[in-house]
Amino acid sequence: MTRICTLSSGSSGNCIFLSHNGTTVLIDCGITGRQAIACLQSIDADPCDIDFILVTHEHSDHTSGVGVMSRKFNIPIIASRGTWSGMSIGRIEHKNRFTFDGNKSFCIGEINVIPFDIPHDANLPTGYRFELGTKKVAVATDIGFVSESVINAVLGCDLVILEANHDRDMLVNGPYPYYLKKRIGGQHGHLCNDDAGELAASLVKSGTKEIILGHLSIENNSESIAFKTVERILGQSGIKTGRDVLMSVAPRYCAGKVAGL
Ligand SMILES: [Zn+2]
Ligand SMILES: [Zn+2]
Repeated sequence: MTRICTLSSGSSGNCIFLSHNGTTVLIDCGITGRQAIACLQSIDADPCDIDFILVTHEHSDHTSGVGVMSRKFNIPIIASRGTWSGMSIGRIEHKNRFTFDGNKSFCIGEINVIPFDIPHDANLPTGYRFELGTKKVAVATDIGFVSESVINAVLGCDLVILEANHDRDMLVNGPYPYYLKKRIGGQHGHLCNDDAGELAASLVKSGTKEIILGHLSIENNSESIAFKTVERILGQSGIKTGRDVLMSVAPRYCAGKVAGL
């Protein structure tokens, strides 16, 4: 049995829950330990059952609760060497520190984990593709553009958590200072709704059945703008949400709907 769900999504904090045949992992924990526990309880999950925390990159919206959760529940952490060198999560016992080299795949219980490079302004940041028996799931957020490694990892997945960070016009015309606009809209920043839409269309053509849009900007996007933009671009390829693909937006502060595969 597989359960996957976002516990929090956006620049205020990201955390994803994945459980498959008795193995449970969190992908990132950029919320407080208290918030993570409350979110887990809201989906009837026990923090004591978490086997590993996988980290995508060192930014605090992905790591602020990682150390607390690891210490409180004795949870091992897995991250790239670059992420380990960049993240500030307090003291972690040696036995709970794991790394991987060269994005080689590895297994946690029956979950096969395949890290992949993401174009983002962090130290060796990674997305993750998970092979769960016959099903595949990918987490692709914090991506400045759809690079070859991203596309290779996400195509063919049954479910993808995909970044739809900002509306390009809202970013350009919004209140952010120029350097921040440049960073977010740049090749190592965040994915805009239009690019998410183009990738979503490729995903559906490759067999993806469910897309969860995530990591929305609070200032430069809204749930309805993200959803409608991606829906419109899917429509240009004759793809209809609800009929050809299930699509939803991950809530910012609480757990989303639990998807089962
Ligand atoms: Zn980031
Ligand atoms: Zn982020």
